[in-house]
Amino acid sequence: MMYDIVVIGGGPAGITLAKRLGNKYKMAVIRPEDHSLIYCAMPYVIEDLIDEKKCFKKDELVTENGASLIRGTVTSVNFERNQVILNSDTPISYRKLVIATGAVPFIPPIEGSTLDGVMGFKTQADLEKIQSLINNGLKRAVVVGAGAIGIELAQALKHKGIDVSLVDMASQVLPNLVGIDFAQKIAEELTRNGIHLLLNSKVEKITGYTCANELHLDNGEIIYFGDYAPCTGNNNETVKGLVVFATGVVPELSFLPKDKLKTNRGGIIVNERMETNLPNVYAVGDCAEFTGFITKESAPGKLATNAVPMAMVLANNLMGESSEYKGFINGAATKVYDYYVGGTGLSASAALKEGFEIIKGYSQLTTQFPIMPGKKELRVKLLAEKNTQKIIGGQVLSGEPVTNIVDLISFAIQKGATVNDMIELSYSAQPYQSFYPAGNAIVMAAENIEKKF
Ligand SMILES: Cc1cc2nc3c(=O)[nH]c(=O)nc-3n(C[C@H](O)[C@H](O)[C@H](O)COP(=O)(O)OP(=O)(O)OC[C@H]3O[C@@H](n4cnc5c(N)ncnc54)[C@H](O)[C@@H]3O)c2cc1C
Repeated sequence: MMYDIVVIGGGPAGITLAKRLGNKYKMAVIRPEDHSLIYCAMPYVIEDLIDEKKCFKKDELVTENGASLIRGTVTSVNFERNQVILNSDTPISYRKLVIATGAVPFIPPIEGSTLDGVMGFKTQADLEKIQSLINNGLKRAVVVGAGAIGIELAQALKHKGIDVSLVDMASQVLPNLVGIDFAQKIAEELTRNGIHLLLNSKVEKITGYTCANELHLDNGEIIYFGDYAPCTGNNNETVKGLVVFATGVVPELSFLPKDKLKTNRGGIIVNERMETNLPNVYAVGDCAEFTGFITKESAPGKLATNAVPMAMVLANNLMGESSEYKGFINGAATKVYDYYVGGTGLSASAALKEGFEIIKGYSQLTTQFPIMPGKKELRVKLLAEKNTQKIIGGQVLSGEPVTNIVDLISFAIQKGATVNDMIELSYSAQPYQSFYPAGNAIVMAAENIEKKF
C-alpha cells in the first residue's frame, strides 16, 4: 500500500495532521492503541470525577476528513525504500513520513524500578492498573515528581482515601512552572490536605521480592508499604504499594534505525519547518526536540499545547505554504485543591541560568470586585528583561482558573511586548468577573516593574 503521507502516532500531533490534511492527500495515521487518550484528564478518572470512557478520543477525529487509521506498531523504518514496517512484517510505503510518536515516562534505572507496583503514568494500561490497585484495597502510594502531573495524580489518589507521599528532589513543587513564592503556597495547600510532601528527597531504591515493599530516600527515610492489607496486582501477585514516577518523559524513538535521523536528548532534531535531516521525513510533538522561543536554545516543552501548533506548522508546509514554528513558550497550568496556578515563558531561575538580567513585578487583587461575596485571591507576577524591557515570563496564582491570564502573558511574549505595552493594556471590568475598573492585575504587575527600572 502506498500513501502520500504516513504519520506514525495518533496523539494530538497526529490527529491535528489528519484533520488538516486528510481530505487533501492519501494519508494514513498509524497507532497501536484501541483508544487514543485525553491524557490531561487521566488524574480525574482516578478521582472518579469522570468515567474512563470519556477519556477515549473518537477514531473519527482521525478518519472524519478522509485519513485512514491503521492500528498497529511501527517496528522499523526503511528510509532508503520509503517504507515503514508495521508489526515486524508488513511494509507500508510513503512519499512523505511524519514521526509523531510522542514520549514515554522516564523511570530512573534504580534498584527496584522493575518491581510490580512501580510504574509511569501515561497509558490506558497505567490508568487501569492504578484503578485496579485502588479497587483491591491499595492503602499507600508514593508519587515521585512534584510537577503538574505528579500533583494532580497525588490529589486523585488522596481523594480515594490512599495515604500519599509526594517526593521530589527539587527544593520546591512545580519547579518548571512557578517561583518559590507561589510554590510555597501550593506546598502549604498540599500539606493542609494531608499529602506528605517530601522535597529535597531523591528516591534511592525500592525493595521487595516481586512487588514494591519499601521505598528508600537518600536522606535515610524509608516509606514502608508492608503494614497494610495486601491487594492483588498482575498475575494475582500481592502488591502492597504503588510508586508512580512522574519525573518527566523521554522521546519514543526506539523503533528507528540507528544513525539515520539526527537526534538529541530531547528527540529528533527538526528545523522551524519541522523538517528532519532526511528528505521527506518530518517530526512533530513530544518526539521532536526544539528551541525555546526566548532563548533560541534547545528547551523542554513536552506539552500538547506545543505538539498541536508544531503539527499545524507542518500541515501548512505540506500543503505548500511557508510556515515556521518559533519555539516553545510553555504556557501551562494546574489545579491544586482550591488553587489554580499557571506560568509561561521563563521562570526567574531559568532566566538567570540563561544569563538574563530580570526585574520582577507583582500584583495582588481579587477575581471579582472586593465587595462581591464570591471574590477570590488573584496574584500575578511578571518578569521583564532589564535591557529590552520585554516581558519574558509570568505566573498566576488564584482561586479561579488562570489559563486566560497565562495565555495573555504568552501572547505578550510572542509579540515582544514591553513593560510599557502591558501598562497600556486595554482591559474590561465587571463585578462578577474582575477587580474594579481602576485596577487590572497584569497592568499593576507591569507598573510594579516600571517603578524598579
Ligand atoms: C497524565 C498527563 C497529563 C498531561 N497534561 C497535560 C496538560 O494539562 N496540558 C498539556 O499541554 N499537556 C499535557 N500532557 C502532555 C501531553 O499529553 C503530551 O505533550 C502530548 O500528548 C504530546 O502529543 P504527541 O502527539 O506528540 O504524542 P503522544 O500524545 O504521546 O502520542 C504519540 C502516539 O504515537 C504512538 N506511537 C508511539 N510509538 C509508536 C510506534 N512505534 N508505532 C506506532 N505508533 C506509535 C503512541 O501510541 C501514540 O498514539 C499530559 C500528559 C500526561 C501523561
